[in-house]
Amino acid sequence: MKQLAIISGKGGTGKTTLAGAFACLAKNKIMADCDVDAADLHLLLSPKILEEHDFFGMEKAFIKKDICISCGKCREICRFNAIGKTYIVDKISCEGCAFCAKICPEKAVEMKKNQAGKWFVSETKFGLLVHAKLGIAEENSGKLVSVVRGKAKELAQEKGVDLVIVDGPPGIGCPVMASLSEIDFAVVVTEPTFSGLHDAKRVISAARHFKVEVGLLVNKSDLNPEITGKMKSYAEESNISFLGEIPFDKDVINALIAGKNVVETGNSPAAGRIREIWKTVKDRIYDGDT
Ligand code: SF4
Ligand code: SF4
Repeated sequence: MKQLAIISGKGGTGKTTLAGAFACLAKNKIMADCDVDAADLHLLLSPKILEEHDFFGMEKAFIKKDICISCGKCREICRFNAIGKTYIVDKISCEGCAFCAKICPEKAVEMKKNQAGKWFVSETKFGLLVHAKLGIAEENSGKLVSVVRGKAKELAQEKGVDLVIVDGPPGIGCPVMASLSEIDFAVVVTEPTFSGLHDAKRVISAARHFKVEVGLLVNKSDLNPEITGKMKSYAEESNISFLGEIPFDKDVINALIAGKNVVETGNSPAAGRIREIWKTVKDRIYDGDT
């Protein structure tokens, strides 16, 4: 089984559009939406939820008011100022260190499981999708990414599917790291701006840290041919596959408005390029180079 990740140095580069298009073009695959802070691949895939599960992040402190004697010791030692004057713990500030529970003379503090989000297995028009939703201001997105990826891999093995396509989170934080482990090939999507180049370099370096082979592609490449040229040169100099350019194309936006992806709706210039890029990516994954 192979695993392909689609990542980007920042949000809004067209990463999910590409992931949706690959979902349409790949024959035998399972999709894993690992952009758990802002999951939106499902918007392109019209999922029917088959399974829904709770995701528990770190434990949080809870003060039992009927036992608490308001001695103030827990407030004094909480480094995160998570305990208010009325001895109610602010769930967002609590880091789950359990120090308050240890020092409370009345054993009034209980560490409780905290439901931080949900994850799902869904049927879509292009096959199975594992996706998730992290609660607002909840942390542990790296752990949730690992849950999503673990389930996608398990389903692929169970159903004899030979490819998992991971729509990774943007940036270079913990969830991206969790998206890159065990990946055979990563497509880095960028746009032709100086900040796009800078962000792409950072995420490429993160992928290389995990010894993941990467390919670079420039979306809306015709908006700034000069920087697109710089990106190509950077790829050549750095020994990175340059996968191609996708031109700005209004049909991409029209397809999104219709809840589809551009390769479903016809043969626009962007759709043609994405099909070519998919062929290259598929060859890279399966030809033994990766
Ligand atoms: S240490 Fe225990 S008893 Fe004292 S204020 Fe905190 S919760 Fe209440
Ligand atoms: S668990 Fe740690 S962070 Fe949370 S309220 Fe207690 S001392 Fe503060």
